[in-house]
This record gives sequence, structure tokens and C-alpha cells, in this order.
Amino acid sequence: MTERVLIPHWIDGKRQAGRADRSGPVFDPATGAVQAEVAFASPDEVDAAVHSAARAFDSWRDSPLTRRTRILFAYRGILDERGKDLARVISSEHGKVLSDAMGEVARGQEVVEFACGIPHLLKGDFSENVSRSIDAYSIRQPVGVVAGITPFNFPVMVPMWMFPIAIACGNTFVLKPSEKDPSAALLLAEWFHEAGLPEGVFNVIQGDRVAVDRLLEHPDVAAVSSVGSTPVARHIYQTAAEHGKRVQALGGAKNHMVVMPDADLDFAADAAVSAGYGSSGQRCMAISAIVAVGDAADPLIDRLVQRIGEIKLGPASDEAADMGPLVTGEHRDRVAAFVETGRGEGARLVVDGRSPEVPAAPGSEGFWLGPTLFDDVRPEMEIHRNEIFGPVLSVLRVESLAEAIQLINKNEYGNGTAIFTSDGAAARHFQNEVEVGMVGINIPIPVPMAFFSFGGWKQSLFGDSHVHGKEGINFYTRTKAVTARWPDTQGSSVNLGFPTN
Ligand code: NAD
Repeated sequence: MTERVLIPHWIDGKRQAGRADRSGPVFDPATGAVQAEVAFASPDEVDAAVHSAARAFDSWRDSPLTRRTRILFAYRGILDERGKDLARVISSEHGKVLSDAMGEVARGQEVVEFACGIPHLLKGDFSENVSRSIDAYSIRQPVGVVAGITPFNFPVMVPMWMFPIAIACGNTFVLKPSEKDPSAALLLAEWFHEAGLPEGVFNVIQGDRVAVDRLLEHPDVAAVSSVGSTPVARHIYQTAAEHGKRVQALGGAKNHMVVMPDADLDFAADAAVSAGYGSSGQRCMAISAIVAVGDAADPLIDRLVQRIGEIKLGPASDEAADMGPLVTGEHRDRVAAFVETGRGEGARLVVDGRSPEVPAAPGSEGFWLGPTLFDDVRPEMEIHRNEIFGPVLSVLRVESLAEAIQLINKNEYGNGTAIFTSDGAAARHFQNEVEVGMVGINIPIPVPMAFFSFGGWKQSLFGDSHVHGKEGINFYTRTKAVTARWPDTQGSSVNLGFPTN
């Protein structure tokens, strides 16, 4: 029997083997086979990574901005050259098709490009002569060691929402990627090091909740950025805050797409199918509920069914495939169980994806589930209240835009939403009233560009900072206000009164 590869950590600028006493399987989702094991760090291995980051912080925080920029530009160049290799690694462990993985790499790279502007982004304010011979200014300083905890569904893009900006700001970073697809993080760290990043500035610690909990309570971790499901985000937010850390914890989602009767229904159906089934529905910005207003529902469903029939399932190696498998068998079974729940609740199962055909891999034991469509879903049903995180689209029928907005606002999540309409006033009203952090107008997946900030409302975000853009810079820095006098000291005297101008 051949021995399984044990996917290591990245500490102090090199791969470091984990101990094999605790580990977890990494699957090839297209075949269902275990392709490797990943080491699960113990608390003392986490301590070693944090220690490395803390040691590196002293000199990295004082490194010249020009040097940081040069390293970021070099990193961008490497990512440009080898993006496809990274995408292949994503596909092999996550299962998404290669074009989708390439899109993920490109969106992550945009954050590196944003971070290349760090000398400008860190500029403070200066006011001369706020009082006689006194100047006032503010400076932005890094917070220290930052921990990042990330989910399986974007093993490259989500970590890249965090570490390029945190590091550009002068912090050092410890990333704990998902244990389901841990290999891409090692390449991200190795290539950053190759671009000139000093040892210890970026570390990767593999593991499960044991590693996360140690990071959350470690006295040398100053801030935590995390992305994952809502129960985990809540736990991370509460525990990290209790330990005095700055924390932003992005949670789960249930994203609604409103289709008005005046929308171009072919355009809307294309968008709903792309955003509902892309990456097999395993995107935090995936559309999972279509809210059809008035008489939009019947013609829209006809168009959805026709398009669903054309979706081709296949492994990443099949260039013609539109949709890959789900990440694990356990997750596939959970999503399939929701299909049964929906039927039991009285929703109409229009397309059942539970016995899909996979032409390029007939008989495969991969974690396949085909596109599934429900009609007549009611807001109180389990399949509407819960995040399913798979290729299952629900259609809810309402009479008016007001009813659609009320339905969305009552849902506990508030990550993304979209409206499809040709009426500018309706779109503007929607954008103003809807209680959701990211809104698309005739755009189904409104993921903000790197120079804006990404984040939801309600149970989709714990904390008050979104990621990247201005809010990312704010999160990874502390401002210091300096009031300075270089006076002519003649005439100085003691005065115990409160300083006024
Ligand atoms: P998850 O919550 O299971 O895991 C996220 C991270 O937390 C992983 O690194 C995991 O190891 C760790 N973790 C898991 N259980 C933990 C526990 N009990 N204590 C401490 N740490 C724990 O999420 P997932 O299944 O990897 O990813 C899918 C979820 O992430 C979905 O809910 C999706 O909506 C969400 N997500 C949200 C966004 C967003 O921007 N809001 C983006 C991507 C994914």
C-alpha cells in the first residue's frame, strides 16, 4: 500500500511537516477517492506559527512602503504566470470546473493589485497650526499578528480578501485554511515568499477547530478575520472579542433574486441559472431563491427548465463541463436531504438532480448532484429559511415588489441580493429599502471590486467591518493622532487648566 501524502504547514518561510497524530482526509470530489491527508495542528504547533509571525512583526512593520509595494508587484507577476497551476490545485480538491477556478484566482489577484497602492492608502492627515506653533496629524499603524480563518468554497479568493491587505499594512499573518481543500494556501504562501516576503510574515497552519480555538485565544494575536457558516462566524466573533481582539466574521447567506414582470425574462433566466448553479451553488453569493413578482413566474420557470436541461456535469478535466461535484460526500448528502425536506413541506419539485448523468465519468463515485429546481416555495419552509449551499434553486411567488422586499428583509441572512427589471424607479426603491449588504441591479452576483468593500448585513456578518477596500485598510490599521509643538520655549510656564486653543 502506498503511503498517503500528509499536507504540511508553512511556518517561518518553509513547509513544515505536521505531526500525523491528528489529520483529516482530502478528497478528489470527482471520484470520491481520498487523495491525501492534511495535518491538524495541535495548540503548540499553532503557537509556533504565531510566534514566527510575532517575531517577524518587529521588522516588517517598519519596512519601507516602497519595498512592500515591490514585493506585491512581484507577487502579482508570479500569480499572473502561474494562475492556471493554482486553479488546477483548487479544482482537484474543491471540484469546481477549471474556468470557475480561474475566475476565483483572478478575483483574488485583484486584491493584490489593490494592495499595490498601499503607499497611497496608508496616507494620514495633517493640519498645520491647529494652535500657535502646534501641528496635528494622524498616522495609520499595523495592529500586529492577524489570524485568518477561511472556508472551503473559495480556497484562494477568500484568503486573498485578507492577507495581501493585512501584510501590505505592515501586519504579519497566520492563515488557517479549510481542511477540505488546504493545498492552495501553501502555494499562496510559497509564491509570496519567492516574491521577496521575509520569513514569518505569512504563515499557514492547517487544521480544524482545535487550531481555530487556539488562534482565538492566543495572547499574541491582535485581530481575526474569518469567513464561514453563520454558527461558526458567531462562535469566532464571540470568542475572539472575549479575548480582546479586533474581529470581523463573515457568515452564511441566502440570496434572493427578484424578477419583476417587466424584466427581460431570457436575460433573467440566464442570470439565475448561472448564479444558482455555478460552482454547484457553493458560493456565498449564489442565488438560492428567485422571487417572481406577478405574472413573471410561469414564463420564467419554463425558461429555467430549458436552460437546466443544457447544463453539463463533469470533472475539472472535462473542458466542456459547466458544473462539478460537491466538495464532500457528507455535504452532498446534506444537500440531497434538503431536496426531500422540500418535497415533504409541499414545495413542487420541478427538476430533481439527485440521479445526475455525468457523461465524462460514467459510474463515478464522485459527490455529484445535478441542478434542482423547486416552485411554490413559501418563506416559512425549511428549504427557504436555511442555507442549503448546493445546486438547489427555489422559486417563491409574490404579488408585488413591496411583498418581495418584505420577504427578503424577514430572512435572517443579508449577504447579497439582486433585482431584474427595466424600471429604474423600482430598482432604486429596492436598493434603498432592502436590508442586505450587497445589491445587484440586473447583475445576479454583485461581488464588489477589490477597491470597494465586501460584506453582508444581519446574520451574514458579525463585527462592523467588511473586507477589502477602505474597510479592509481600516480593519488592519490603528490610527494614532499626534499633536506636536516645536516651539520657541522662551516664555513657557506651568498651567494646570485643560488645554484649549
Ligand atoms: P465552516 O463554517 O464549516 O468552516 C469555516 C472555517 O471555520 C474552516 O476553516 C473550518 O475549519 C473552521 N471551523 C469549522 N467549524 C468550526 C468550529 N466549530 N469552531 C471553530 N472553527 C471551525 O464553513 P465551510 O463549510 O468551510 O464554508 C461554507 C460556508 O461559508 C457557507 O455557510 C458560506 O455561506 C460561508 N461563506 C460566506 C462568505 C461570505 O462572504 N459571507 C464567503 C464564503 C463562504
